[in-house]
Amino acid sequence: MDIASRPAEPEQNLQTADAAPAPQAPPVIRREDYLPPAWLVPEIALDFALGLDATTVVSKLSVRRNPDGNGTPTLRLNGDQLAPVAVHVDGEAVNDWRMDGPDLLIELAGEAHEVSVETALVPSGNSQLMGLYASNGMLCTQCEAEGFRRITFFPDRPDVLSTYSVRMAGDRAVFPILLANGNCTAQGESEDGTHWAEWHDPWPKPSYLFALVAGELIANHATFTTMSGRKVDLNVWVRPGDEGRTQHAVDSLIASMKWDEETFGREYDLDLFNIVAVSDFNMGAMENKGLNVFNTRYVLADPDTATDADYDAVEGVIGHEYFHNWSGNRITCRDWFQLSLKEGFTVLRDQLFSADMGSEPVKRIEDVRILRIAQFPEDSGPLAHPIRPDSYQEISNFYTATVYNKGAEVIRMMRTMAGEERFRKGTDLYFERHDGTAATCEDFVTAIEDGAGLDLSQFRLWYSQAGTPQVSVALQQEGARLVLTLRQAVPTTPGQPEKQPMPIPLRVALFDRATGTHGGETLIVLTKAEDRFVFENAPADPVLSINRGFSAPVAIEMLRPDADLVFLAAHDDDPFARYEAMQSLVVQHLVAAVGGGLDEGARAQGREAIGAAFGAIVTDPALDDLMRGELMLLPAESYLAEQLLVSDPGAIHAEREGLKAWLGKALAADLEALHDRVSAVPYGREAAARGARKVKTQALVYIAAGNPAEGARRGLAQYQGAQSMTDRQGALMVLASLDCPEREEALADFLARYEGNALVIDKWFSLQAGSLHPRVLAHIKTLSAHPEFRMSNPNRVRALYMAAAMNPVAFHDPGGEGYRMIGDLIRRLDPINPQTAARFVPSLGRWRRVEPQRAALMRAELERIAAEANLSRDVREQVTKSLG
Ligand SMILES: [Zn+2]
Repeated sequence: MDIASRPAEPEQNLQTADAAPAPQAPPVIRREDYLPPAWLVPEIALDFALGLDATTVVSKLSVRRNPDGNGTPTLRLNGDQLAPVAVHVDGEAVNDWRMDGPDLLIELAGEAHEVSVETALVPSGNSQLMGLYASNGMLCTQCEAEGFRRITFFPDRPDVLSTYSVRMAGDRAVFPILLANGNCTAQGESEDGTHWAEWHDPWPKPSYLFALVAGELIANHATFTTMSGRKVDLNVWVRPGDEGRTQHAVDSLIASMKWDEETFGREYDLDLFNIVAVSDFNMGAMENKGLNVFNTRYVLADPDTATDADYDAVEGVIGHEYFHNWSGNRITCRDWFQLSLKEGFTVLRDQLFSADMGSEPVKRIEDVRILRIAQFPEDSGPLAHPIRPDSYQEISNFYTATVYNKGAEVIRMMRTMAGEERFRKGTDLYFERHDGTAATCEDFVTAIEDGAGLDLSQFRLWYSQAGTPQVSVALQQEGARLVLTLRQAVPTTPGQPEKQPMPIPLRVALFDRATGTHGGETLIVLTKAEDRFVFENAPADPVLSINRGFSAPVAIEMLRPDADLVFLAAHDDDPFARYEAMQSLVVQHLVAAVGGGLDEGARAQGREAIGAAFGAIVTDPALDDLMRGELMLLPAESYLAEQLLVSDPGAIHAEREGLKAWLGKALAADLEALHDRVSAVPYGREAAARGARKVKTQALVYIAAGNPAEGARRGLAQYQGAQSMTDRQGALMVLASLDCPEREEALADFLARYEGNALVIDKWFSLQAGSLHPRVLAHIKTLSAHPEFRMSNPNRVRALYMAAAMNPVAFHDPGGEGYRMIGDLIRRLDPINPQTAARFVPSLGRWRRVEPQRAALMRAELERIAAEANLSRDVREQVTKSLG
């Protein structure tokens, strides 16, 4: 599954009667309590009579006692807001079943039985978007993590693998297309106007990978021939009218299939691969076997409606879900604590794929930026958890940047230490050893250890310890030798007061300042709390480049002279290190300025140093524009806040904006020349044209910061002359933050131009909610009452409110209005879509790291939420931990 989005609208979430109210303190589920299932279900046959308002499901389970289970005669079938309409055992109706909370319990005497249960669902009333629900006149499912139990009673845990046969019947006019996992084995018409289809998936799978889709859909069809010569039919299904925006998705799917064969030796294993785009979806996309269900935003793309970043996201998410066919589906997770087994590994695979499809250095920089913005704050906050958590109350809350992105970094470190070839031997062994099973993170590490020939015994700490390690660096010259002393500290996190040192692989190079070159890169692995590394024959005037390529997900602590950072920003041959030097230069300056450690003279001096390095980046003819665009980005405010124990978001914002405006003024001529040059490049999908577009909006941002009138003039020109959404959205983003007539003109034009295109209207909401306009809070309030705003659509809710929660001006308004707005949203959204509502809690949960006045307001908002009587398990867990 891909995280990426958030939530939806009003009223109604129950499917049938008999739902137990959520208890105030949901039970804590612990990894160490794992027990194998008592009963196995080798086969299941599902029969659906489909209707948007009423669907009935008859589920026939072949159950068999698990020889490794505890021998209990009680078959526990999980349910969630379900009531059994009828229960049969071995063909006989039985009445002696009982309910235990939401679960159905049946006593079974023998070793093997056929158990059949009928349930009745109301898909149109399912606003949680988990289980079977109606979206835009069609029916679809989302079962990861625990949605299948909202469709039928089942041992809904990932280590129960079954072969699925599905029959579905429905009104042909409403549901002309009927899809499920695997291959379609039969279909036909009935006399009453209904039609039916039967599907069979030969690969045993856990219930979270089940999927069904029924509705009016149209396919972009293609074929792919696998490395062993099998032909696979590919379909990307969308609503009629959207088919013109599916070619990039089809191309991305074909590229993914080919790449996984070449890079990991993985071949697709069914005759058919379907992707369906759905407009109401909690997540980014879902890897159901042979039938991926996608949020429309990760399928639909054309130059007029999708930015270059949208194109990349489509390619990345299509790759991600496709790669799950092996890392997730063929080998699944034993339990949900192992989520990183499939997600960390699959994120790494999609990162490597995107790097191969585009620019490897730029992709690496983007991945690190996401890690720092989304994961570092998790690691330093009240919700910190290891990539393999030890306990949870609601598993939906653990689809986090830690499990996904840090999980990927941890596996990337193994790859760095083993080297590509040996790492591949490890993954080959993993796929071979565990194919067809539900495995653990430990199984994965052991396979890499055995296959790649690495000793990972100490490395396993990365799976159990939370927190971002801090590595402090000291350099000492001893004649011709240079001694590098490294110290690591893993910060205390909730439930983990004591930490042990972890292996930290660091790629380092020593530059000679005189020549601008280095004598070769080395990989050092810091395994102790403190260690010394000696470089013989060091240059007389060395400059250290460390954690090149971001070889370890750590924070490097080293106060460096500006001159060293300026040198590396100009000379480092590792593109990430070059970017990092520029970032560090700015971070050092801004953190000192925010902390009040700079007088006017020192501030001016710092800005001059940054201005010189920045100016070189703006004008360097040897730099490609894609990379230039990365180097021109200032560090995010949330990342700056991470550098401080307690931060003042207002001061950070003012200093960062002040620097932006100063750069815009000081380099006005160069920035305008750059904007003119790239504005002349015609639209194309090739790297040079993409780079031009990226730099165009970057340049405009600084021009507008330095000279708002010139920014407004150029912004409107860029908007009106745009040949693509990238240029149009970039211009509108800049204009939205300015207080000028051009702003209103462009916003009105954009809304009218893209009327009816939901994904583009999302952008319209998001650009305004994310703007730095002084009246942004009033704008957001107006937008929440706009006829195009719908609480029931997760994409729209995210577009408005996630943009607001991430906007420092709106969210950290000194009066607390931003906190109140997000608090109100959580309370309104929770009864409708708890999963999405819970994703807004962490923004308020960072109160301990914020200055006292704002912290009190944030905390008060959390307390207001906690006082609600009927909070979902999702929100309850996040709020309690955030206050605790
Ligand atoms: Zn995933």
